Amino acid sequence: MSQPSTTSDAVMMLCPNLKCRKLLRVPVACRGKQVKCQFCELTFRVPEPKQSSTEPPQV
Ligand SMILES: [Zn+2]
Repeated sequence: MSQPSTTSDAVMMLCPNLKCRKLLRVPVACRGKQVKCQFCELTFRVPEPKQSSTEPPQV
């Protein structure tokens, strides 16, 4: 299956900082862990994977 925005080892997500909202590429290994946005340096928790492995990016 083709996954345009998500690879097998990384996930695309938006920075939760409303003043940033950058599209971040986060390794799937960071799921459920704390990561830091390289743009605004906000530390946030990466959501756990959902049942579908092909979830669309949150807008
Ligand atoms: Zn950010």
